Amino acid sequence: MTDPHIHIEPIGFFHTYTKEKHRVPRQPDKNLGIHGYILLHKEHNFEQALQDLDSFSHLWIIFQFHQALQWKPMVLPPRGKQKRGVFATRSPYRPNPIGISVVSLISIHGLCIEISGTDLLDETPILDIKPYIPYADCISEANSGWLDAIEEPNLIFNISDDCLVEASEIKEKKGVDIILHIKQLLRESPYPHPYRRIKQINEDMYELSIRTWRIIYTVHEHDESMIITILSISH
Ligand code: SAM
Repeated sequence: MTDPHIHIEPIGFFHTYTKEKHRVPRQPDKNLGIHGYILLHKEHNFEQALQDLDSFSHLWIIFQFHQALQWKPMVLPPRGKQKRGVFATRSPYRPNPIGISVVSLISIHGLCIEISGTDLLDETPILDIKPYIPYADCISEANSGWLDAIEEPNLIFNISDDCLVEASEIKEKKGVDIILHIKQLLRESPYPHPYRRIKQINEDMYELSIRTWRIIYTVHEHDESMIITILSISH
């Protein structure tokens, strides 16, 4: 009987500014994704292995969820209120904590691969890198399974002038598009959920935390829409 265990070693690690899970998008995102670089190990001749990779615009990154080592067969995904089998989700908490992400390739210099639009934490172990090949990887007729049944709410945002001024100052000083982040995070649902840093303040008022910013907003449901009024953005 061959040994059932597989021995895999990281080929390198991903480096970026954050180790905090809530600061990382749930899937790769060209606008809100994390920029960083993969540094491959020396003395493995990976320089040669990288040849011609720079002819691709996007890469598959196969990695270990090194900060998600416990798993359960059923998980509560960020969308919807129902637990799902972990194999029917992209949860990090899996029997083998392996992730796959398609990211944009920025540049390759020696053993350093600069990428953007990722959903990876700092120091994520990288197991493999492959080119993204649209004819093989993009299946336009594929469905999204149980996700298709979850109707994303139709959100209508009212943002006060003061908040727009605050948002433009944040963009100028910190380079963060806070309005885009707010819309991205509330897009799934504007209500509290274990995966969303949302606190209920009173009947229709909530507080969303994004990094060190606190956003106060109200939610009013009207027909098929939800009207989100952003009242304040503060540090
Ligand atoms: N696109 C990948 C996939 O589908 O396999 C990852 C999806 S998973 C939902 C993305 C989340 O995993 C991120 O929002 C972050 O919270 C978490 N994450 C990223 N890097 C991680 C790591 N090294 N260890 C544990 N969790 C990580």
